[in-house]
Amino acid sequence: MILIDGKATARQLNEDIKAKIDGFVQKGERPPGLAIILIGENPASLSYVKGKGKACLSVGMTHELIRLPEDVTSEAVEKVITRLNQDPLVDGMILQLPIPRHLDADRLIDLISKDKDADGFHVINQGYMYQKKPSIKPATPKGIMTLLKAYDLDVAGMNAVVIGRSNIVGFPIARLLMDANATVTICHSRTSDLKQHTKEADLLVVSAGRPGLVTKDMVKKGAIVIDVGVNRVDGKLVGDVDFEQLKDVVSYMTPVPGGVGPMTIHTLIHNTFELYQANIKTKDQLNTPGIL
Ligand code: NAP
Repeated sequence: MILIDGKATARQLNEDIKAKIDGFVQKGERPPGLAIILIGENPASLSYVKGKGKACLSVGMTHELIRLPEDVTSEAVEKVITRLNQDPLVDGMILQLPIPRHLDADRLIDLISKDKDADGFHVINQGYMYQKKPSIKPATPKGIMTLLKAYDLDVAGMNAVVIGRSNIVGFPIARLLMDANATVTICHSRTSDLKQHTKEADLLVVSAGRPGLVTKDMVKKGAIVIDVGVNRVDGKLVGDVDFEQLKDVVSYMTPVPGGVGPMTIHTLIHNTFELYQANIKTKDQLNTPGIL
C-alpha cells in the first residue's frame, strides 16, 4: 500500500505559493489577506483555525482572526461580514463551521461576497461549479482532486464511490470526480446495502464522520481509499476507515491525520491566493488611465 501523504504534498504546494507571493511583494504589491471568523469555543474549530493561521504565516499571507462569543446575534455577525466585504486588504474570508444553532450558516455564508469566498461555499460559487464554470471550489473536494493528481492517479473510467452527501464534501467531490470522468455513486445513511456499493469501488471517498465505518470486507483489492473523516476516539484522531485492516488490501490510502486535512488548508490558501490575484488585477485596471 502506498500512503498518500497529504502533509508533504501540501507543504510542497504551499512552498510554490509562497514563492509566487514573494514575487508579488518584491514587485511592491501588498501580501494577500485572509479573514477568519470564529464563533464560540469549539476546541476542534479552535485547532483548525490555528492551523489555518499558521499556514497563512508560512506562505507570507496576512490573516485576521475575528472571535465572536457563542451567543452572538446574527446582526452582529452580519456587521462583521459586511465590514470585511468592504475591506480592500481582505482578499478571502471564511466563517469557521460549525456555528451555533441559533445562527443560519447558509444565510451568513451567502452574505460573504462571492469574490471573497475562500471556502467556495457561497451559493453562486457552488452554482458555477455544478455548471462546470470557472469558480472558487470548496476546499476539501478540490484538495482531494489536487492530491490524486499529485500521485498521478487518473480517475477517468474508474468506479468512484463517495460515502456522504454533505454540501461541503460528499456532494461536491462527486461532481468533481464526475468532471474528471469517473463513474460516481453517492452513498449516505439511507443507502440500504453500503457494502454492495463500496465493494465495486476503484476509488472510495469516505466522508461520513463515523469512525470504523469502512472495514476490510467492504473494499475491493487494490482500491484507492480517501478518508475524509476526522473523529476523536479515546483522545486520538481517527478517520472513517479502519486503517489497520485496510492497509493490506488497498493500493493507495490517505492517513488520518496527515491526509486530506492538510490539503484542505492548502486549498484554502490557494483559493485566497486566486482571489488576491483577481483583486490586484481589478485594482490595476481601475488605476489604468482611460478606464472608468
Ligand atoms: P456531514 O455533513 O455530517 O455529512 C455526513 C454524511 O455522511 C451524510 O451525508 C450522511 O448521510 C452520511 N452518513 C453518516 N453516517 C453514515 C453511515 N453509517 N453510512 C453511510 N453514510 C453515512 O459531514 P461532513 O461535513 O461531510 O464531514 C464528514 C466527516 O469529514 C467529519 O468527520 C468531518 O469532521 C470530516 N471533515 C474533514 C475535513 C478535512 O479537511 N479533513 C473537511 C470536512 C469534513 P445523510 O445525508 O443521509 O445524513
